[in-house]
Amino acid sequence: MTAESAPGRDSSTGVRWLFGDQLGPHFLDATDQRVLLIESRKVFARRRFHRQKAHLVQSAMRHRAAELGDRCDYRKADTYGEVLHELSPGTPLSVCHPTSFAARDLVMRSPGVRLLPARGFATSMAEFAEWATSRGSRRLLMEDHYRLARRRFDVMMDGDEPVGGQWNFDHDNRLPPPKPGRDKNPVTGIGVPPPWWPDEDEIDAEVRRDLDQWERDGDVSFIGVDGPRRFPASRGEARSAFTHFVAHRLNAFGPYEDAMLAGDPWLAHSLLSSSLNLGLLDPLELVRDVEKAYLEDDLPIASVEGFIRQLIGWRDYIWNLYWHLGPDYRERNLLHADLDVPAWFAELDADAVGANCLSSILADVRDHAWVHHIPRLMVLGNYAMQRGWRPSQVTDWFHRAFIDGYDWVMVPNVVGMSQYADGGGITTKPYAGGGAYIDRMSDYCKPCRYRPSVRVGEPACPFTAGYWWFLDRHRADFAGNHRMAQPLRGLDRLADLPALVEQEQTRGSSAP
Ligand SMILES: Cc1cc2nc3c(=O)[nH]c(=O)nc-3n(C[C@H](O)[C@H](O)[C@H](O)COP(=O)(O)OP(=O)(O)OC[C@H]3O[C@@H](n4cnc5c(N)ncnc54)[C@H](O)[C@@H]3O)c2cc1C
Ligand code: SF4
Repeated sequence: MTAESAPGRDSSTGVRWLFGDQLGPHFLDATDQRVLLIESRKVFARRRFHRQKAHLVQSAMRHRAAELGDRCDYRKADTYGEVLHELSPGTPLSVCHPTSFAARDLVMRSPGVRLLPARGFATSMAEFAEWATSRGSRRLLMEDHYRLARRRFDVMMDGDEPVGGQWNFDHDNRLPPPKPGRDKNPVTGIGVPPPWWPDEDEIDAEVRRDLDQWERDGDVSFIGVDGPRRFPASRGEARSAFTHFVAHRLNAFGPYEDAMLAGDPWLAHSLLSSSLNLGLLDPLELVRDVEKAYLEDDLPIASVEGFIRQLIGWRDYIWNLYWHLGPDYRERNLLHADLDVPAWFAELDADAVGANCLSSILADVRDHAWVHHIPRLMVLGNYAMQRGWRPSQVTDWFHRAFIDGYDWVMVPNVVGMSQYADGGGITTKPYAGGGAYIDRMSDYCKPCRYRPSVRVGEPACPFTAGYWWFLDRHRADFAGNHRMAQPLRGLDRLADLPALVEQEQTRGSSAP
């Protein structure tokens, strides 16, 4: 760093300290603003992340530094504190609100750093807090937050009414995948072209060399396998991925949002979560573009509305809940699930698993650090909850194994949504399900060694039996929940329950 380029010598806007998930232009206030980026090796030394996630984060930071050129002071250090300590006193440093409690506390402990409001989300913390207060003791329903956001940002609105006459097209969006031989496209199975993929460049080669070296030095170790970078590392790449998605795949996003296919993890999903969470894209920018495409290109409203709901509905809701629920929420464990996550799951050892759905999905995570929402919720999360694995460990695993995992997004999605560890604060009932759901929404069951309808015996599906075992263990917890009354009545009718319980106690957390 030269004296001329040193932070603190420039401009009324001062130096912007960017965290590695604040990489888009909307985190800066001027086109000539100086930037401080800190690459910390310790972050990867402390926990075992997926190799491809470590690669993407480093590649994206270095791509941003290359774009900024002389304006960027790029430091490699063990810790953030080390670098802040080295900066010349009086450096006018500001930072946009970080995305975790730990990072926010670090900023607040750092003298002279100005903390700015969060960017990269549509609904602000203040707007959400005002809404939450207005609800009193009523549940903070995602749907209500979403409708308010549609009105607030005037998205897909016709005056005060939603375009198309309804807020929600969910009932059109739950199609199972097409049956083999019917509507079958050799490439994806649902008749859309494959996703847009980036080309790796010299920066990726350098990142790969560094990660290999760190591993050889014994400083870090990873889970998952290395592979071609699948997810955007620069804003240009992220925009290309988004444009391709809108032009070629968004039309099928809605109907097949919940479907799962062995051999095609991508289906018609956007694969934009990592780009949004790295700050390469801004959600409102995407929403405006999708709305424009709806008007100009005659895209199906169920897909357009479904995608917009994910962005300014679900994503903002989860972000704001993270802050609203506070730092202790991550430790919730109201179902007293206290078993350790087993090694075969933690290590993504798909080959150790005979259950076809779980094995295929673990292999997808191992190979790509990504699967879509339903495998996360109804296969991986569902299995962890049924078996009674500790929610904080499950959260940590998702955070490390997924390309888009960050503290803010994992804690509410896993602790609340997927593990029901808050006893129903976010969802009205646990997302537990048996093999019948997986069979309906996928093609996993036909070639599986288990049968989704069988509860007891050699071919008993571990999800079906696990579901009833879970309900049996938590009868008392769910007794007052009217949405669980019907499943509990079903449980009472199971003549083979004692045999099922014995079988599942034996199976426990071993690989099914
Ligand atoms: C157990 C569990 C863990 C999850 N962990 C993460 C995570 O670490 N990071 C993450 O970004 N998403 C997470 N999600 C939400 C969702 O599964 C992913 O955002 C989505 O699968 C990413 O793929 P996509 O970009 O193709 O999304 P699409 O299906 O194309 O959806 C579009 C966008 O909507 C946003 N979105 C939708 N739902 C959510 C949600 N519940 N929370 C946050 N954003 C949402 C994402 O930004 C996503 O890119 C999790 C969901 C579950 C059930
Ligand atoms: S039968 Fe059960 S274990 Fe096998 S694929 Fe279907 S749901 Fe999964």
